[in-house]
Amino acid sequence: MSFVLKPLPYPMDALMPYIDARTVEFHYTKHHQGYVNKLNELIKESNFEDKSLEQIIKESTGPIFNNAAQVWNHSFYWDSLAPAAKKEPGGKIKQLIDNEFNGFEAFKEKFSNMAVTLFGSGWCWLVQQADGKLQIIQTNNAETPLTTDMNPLLTCDVWEHAYYLDYQNRRPDYVKAFWNVVNWEAVESRLK
Ligand code: MN
Repeated sequence: MSFVLKPLPYPMDALMPYIDARTVEFHYTKHHQGYVNKLNELIKESNFEDKSLEQIIKESTGPIFNNAAQVWNHSFYWDSLAPAAKKEPGGKIKQLIDNEFNGFEAFKEKFSNMAVTLFGSGWCWLVQQADGKLQIIQTNNAETPLTTDMNPLLTCDVWEHAYYLDYQNRRPDYVKAFWNVVNWEAVESRLK
């Protein structure tokens, strides 16, 4: 079995002006597709060949883990975003954020700070812990909360390839723009 790149949930120019069509095109058709291709190459004739993506992520290490986790993380990232998104969370996710972080503005500030200060390449996540509480975490390189008991709700890709065409080395500007395209309905639907 080989993996196929999941379709983008919106057109490539849908996140403009916050994330440019060229950025999405490169990120999706070169980077995300590249991880899919590499994973297929690596699992060929291995004992991972017939496993699901989630199983591979939980059971592998090294290059197979890195590529499998990057395939999953990127699909989760695209699904975390939406064009003309509501700018603020509502419903249960709003309540949880208010309780845990003392309001949406304080949450945004904390998440942004962790996204900006992550050293090197990686991902910043909002997750739900096993006890139901929310937490913000950083993961390096391809690391993903999928290998833990935490339930991922939202992610921001802070690899430089996610923003260099739009913002060059200015990660804080990308993170600031990111808030305009967060799909809060998707985030809320992931709550357990
Ligand atoms: Mn990426």
